[in-house]
Amino acid sequence: MIQQPVQHNNPANSAAILVINCGSSSVKFSLINPSSGEALLSGLAECLLSNEAIITIKQAGKKQTYELNAPFDHQIALQVLVTQLKQLDLVKDICAIGHRVVHGGEEYSQPTLITDKVEQAIAQLAKLAPLHNPANLIGIKACQQAFNDLPQVAVFDTAFHQTMPEKAYIYGLPYALYKEHGIRRYGFHGTSHYFVAKQAAKQLHKPLEQCNLISAHLGNGCSVTVIKQGESVDTSMGMTPGEGVMMGTRCGDLDAGIIFHLVDNLGYSIADVDKLVNKESGLLGISGLSNDCRTLENAMIEDNNSQARLALTVFCYRIAKSIASYSTCLTQLDGLIFTGGIGENSSWIRAEIVKQLGLLNFYLDDEKNQTTRFGASGNIANKDSRACLVIATNEEWVIAEQSAQLLTNLAK
Ligand code: ADP
Repeated sequence: MIQQPVQHNNPANSAAILVINCGSSSVKFSLINPSSGEALLSGLAECLLSNEAIITIKQAGKKQTYELNAPFDHQIALQVLVTQLKQLDLVKDICAIGHRVVHGGEEYSQPTLITDKVEQAIAQLAKLAPLHNPANLIGIKACQQAFNDLPQVAVFDTAFHQTMPEKAYIYGLPYALYKEHGIRRYGFHGTSHYFVAKQAAKQLHKPLEQCNLISAHLGNGCSVTVIKQGESVDTSMGMTPGEGVMMGTRCGDLDAGIIFHLVDNLGYSIADVDKLVNKESGLLGISGLSNDCRTLENAMIEDNNSQARLALTVFCYRIAKSIASYSTCLTQLDGLIFTGGIGENSSWIRAEIVKQLGLLNFYLDDEKNQTTRFGASGNIANKDSRACLVIATNEEWVIAEQSAQLLTNLAK
């Protein structure tokens, strides 16, 4: 299983970036052509460190799975990937590794070549992202072992939101907590909001710098971002991904008094509250059924399940309210973007959100809304409406593109 260090071609002659998105028990990977966005190979190692650990690799329309019948870690998963890349003769094409890193704090607003100092900074920032940054570091270290002669680049989820003005990122807390401890709003899903804004600009035939957009990334995590002249000026997630709209298992914005009530009067520990607001709330919490919109939509439509209906109704209302609140940031608005697994696929949810946005002049074309799903993209608005664009996100492509761009700039 243990690999010898891999020999690489000169990066200048190579074309592909290996994009790594490392979670606490999973690694998503794709080998991407940074110019076209084409995925030469992609896959997922999941349930790492458990007996169910499994790796799935897709390449040229074929899907292969690898089970080692024993718990294995990120390092072993990457070694399996390296073996496959070698067998497919793809290693020579890789010129760098691009890592999704969740929290870059205020220091990192650009893609950054990973050095010892950058690794230390990512480790330091783990206090703001305890679930994510340590996992990202595991991926970085595992890649250093597996691809020791390749440059590695960090692309931060928070970076796109570093253009937010102070009024958007300061909490109504004593200012010293920001100055001394970095407690402020950072925002997440930045790579996705940036990608879909760039695609929207193409569809609207305008340079991104002239576009004013509101982008709703609705997946397992959900966030809404307002983009003014191509830059993020506010976003719904905060110091952590827990703030903002309601999500699959996260409650989103919450009266802090509820936490004191749970702890003081209902016997919850802080760990219980953490689990409650992050893992047991949102769509799952209200419906008591599932965090998956497909299950809830089916239950609502087929079985007339009232809890599923309530969960979806609250979900859509909160998103519509968040979108409408961003009219305060703009004097012009070119359009609304839906992306993420829910935004790209659920016609019901898009319709339910947009029907609450008539005052902002958003109206859907029902037929376009019904048919723009499962990878289709386009404007689902009717002719009297501002644009409502459905755009499939592609964070991997941004990470590949920005990693390649950074290396080109460094080589100049
Ligand atoms: P992540 O945030 O983990 O990247 P995704 O963006 O893939 O997640 O979104 C996953 C969610 O998308 C699922 O939980 C599910 O609720 C939703 N989803 C996917 N397909 C559909 C569909 N056809 N209809 C409604 N919701 C869908």
